[in-house]
Amino acid sequence: MEPDSLRPRIAVVGGGVSGLVAARELALAGADVVVVEGADRLGGRIRGAALAGTTIDIGAESFATRGGTVAALIGEIGMADQIVRPAPLGSWVIDGPRSIPLPAAGTLGIPATPLSAATVRALGLPGALRAAAEPLLPRPIGRDAGSLAELVRARLGARALQRLVRPVALGVYSADPDRLGVTTVPGLADAYARRGSLIAAARDVRDSQAAAGGAVAGLRGGMTQLIAGLEAELARLGVAVRRGVKARRLEQQQGPSRDRRWRVLADDGAMLAEADGLVLAVPENVARRLLGAGGTTAQTTDRVEVVALAIDDPRLDGAPRGTGALVARDAVGSGSRRGGAAAPILAKALTHVTAKWPERAREAGPGRHIVRLSYGRSGSAPETIGLDDAEVRGIARYDASRILGVDLRADTVVDLARCTWRMGRPPGSRDARPLAAPEGIALAGDWVSGTGLAAIVQGARAAATAALAAASH
Ligand SMILES: Cc1cc2nc3c(=O)[nH]c(=O)nc-3n(C[C@H](O)[C@H](O)[C@H](O)COP(=O)(O)OP(=O)(O)OC[C@H]3O[C@@H](n4cnc5c(N)ncnc54)[C@H](O)[C@@H]3O)c2cc1C
Repeated sequence: MEPDSLRPRIAVVGGGVSGLVAARELALAGADVVVVEGADRLGGRIRGAALAGTTIDIGAESFATRGGTVAALIGEIGMADQIVRPAPLGSWVIDGPRSIPLPAAGTLGIPATPLSAATVRALGLPGALRAAAEPLLPRPIGRDAGSLAELVRARLGARALQRLVRPVALGVYSADPDRLGVTTVPGLADAYARRGSLIAAARDVRDSQAAAGGAVAGLRGGMTQLIAGLEAELARLGVAVRRGVKARRLEQQQGPSRDRRWRVLADDGAMLAEADGLVLAVPENVARRLLGAGGTTAQTTDRVEVVALAIDDPRLDGAPRGTGALVARDAVGSGSRRGGAAAPILAKALTHVTAKWPERAREAGPGRHIVRLSYGRSGSAPETIGLDDAEVRGIARYDASRILGVDLRADTVVDLARCTWRMGRPPGSRDARPLAAPEGIALAGDWVSGTGLAAIVQGARAAATAALAAASH
């Protein structure tokens, strides 16, 4: 290893998975690395929460297996034997009073085989025939579409949009397809340009395993184990980690021997780190503030609330909605929240954690179930925000009952955990505003490289390489 004075010093701002992966990459390449994290804990949107005597994931709970990127990282930090697979139960879409098994093997809900029994069941025969005609439509149809939603409606019909693409987009990107572009889905825009058909493009993307929402895996004990593993690795590599210190300002210094040094400063002007190069692995609004690039629109920081319930009810043993369900817009349950008229389901998705992850079921014991509901559709605040736990428990129990098709009694809900998140704006969003970082600063995060851990691990590695290259010449 080079003497310390010759090693480039790189500061990584943000200790979520992007920052930790970038820091590890930099340290492995011989840099002297410091991580500056604003919160008291590392992990960002990977976080554990206590529920009924166990710790569950209340943020990210799995990773896409595409490209093997995340699995490779897990292997490199010696945790390959901790990877767990979800039960192959499939998931469902709830559309009004209808519960429909989600056709497997689609890309972002765009069906790959529109006349399969599952797609016909989801769309009805007229809807499936309308979708099946898509490859025959003239290429210009949909050319002027300003969003993914308009494109899907023009090419595949309103049903495919409403019953499949919209709920899947909301589940995967927390964004309505009205606000997404075809470029949001990695590989889809290219495949569509090549094939001139969305169905054919969806098939290509599925075959190349590039689709978000495709096959996933998890870690024994939850995704927080990835953070623990990375933290241990950074300690082993001698990376300095400063927690509970928020970066508020960046300053560039002209040094005598090197052409520039960056200073990362706190609110009170205290210096948190000085370095030859920076990786900003913070949310988009924070990066914009640090770079003086102006704030973000409200849409870049949509909130989502995750509500987890522990439920003692053996009727759920049969996993009535497989690993979980996505809720299409305006779904109305068949019961009522407070004994009055039918109330809409407010949740946008439910994961049946103990059905999806067999190790969680074993840990929970017979008859105990964990479900995770998420609230907050694109552009509107989660309905649960600001409500007390008792109210949220009532809403979540009602929604879980309707989604799972099992009337859950209040006394069977034995515990609740909740957490509010700010979601990034996926690249390819219609309102995306490109952000150019000054030389010497590399950007990382889902808003840079795409939603999901598979994309951001790759992006963080690329950011580390770019920061090191810029700092070394
Ligand atoms: C509810 C939920 C469920 C999800 N489920 C999945 C899933 O199942 N699979 C999947 O692949 N992805 C999932 N995701 C997405 C995934 O969690 C994120 O893409 C990923 O964790 C983002 O990591 P990051 O490091 O880029 O950003 P973050 O995790 O947001 O990390 C940014 C870090 O920067 C820190 N920070 C902020 N401001 C400052 C400052 N001024 N100074 C210093 N530090 C600062 C923050 O405290 C944070 O630790 C989910 C996200 C949520 C919210």
